[in-house]
Amino acid sequence: MTSALRTESEGQTAAAARRLAERLPPSAVVLLTGDLGAGKTAFVRGLAAGLGIDPDEVSSPTFTLIQEYVGARVLRHVDLYRLQGAEIDDLGLDELTQDGSVVAIEWAERLRAAPPGAIQVTIVDLGGDVRELRIEQGAQRAADSGSRGPLAATG
Ligand code: ADP
Ligand code: MG
Repeated sequence: MTSALRTESEGQTAAAARRLAERLPPSAVVLLTGDLGAGKTAFVRGLAAGLGIDPDEVSSPTFTLIQEYVGARVLRHVDLYRLQGAEIDDLGLDELTQDGSVVAIEWAERLRAAPPGAIQVTIVDLGGDVRELRIEQGAQRAADSGSRGPLAATG
């Protein structure tokens, strides 16, 4: 199931993410794709809010590869922007959801395969403050991922 909407401010993007987060099951994986400045981190702030976490805790993971935010629920935030194949495999992303945490991954196109059931969010900058958000729910793409697990790198 795919839904698409346009937002005209960072706040509207965060609100859309917040609505999504409020119905995310335990161990949900949200894969974020979009150019630099599209609004991926803004979306993660909204996810945090919807999970009962202070959105001000969310920043772009720079030195810490995986950030963990704790509120009513736990959100783990990964940014693959600076990482390549083996470095991504070494993060152990498959383990991040095992305690029921929600995981949000920026630059998810760097993964070799989407985990089954992951929610794919694509953000396109349409100019100015206008963004198109395409949210694909739980595409049950069979993870043809060999022995390295579905959250392994593309190359
Ligand atoms: P990314 O993580 O994709 O690189 P960020 O979320 O860090 O992007 O930054 C998005 C930037 O775009 C912010 O400066 C934000 O204020 C701005 N912006 C303008 N309009 C929107 C919108 N509709 N949705 C999200 N961000 C927007
Ligand atoms: Mg970002």
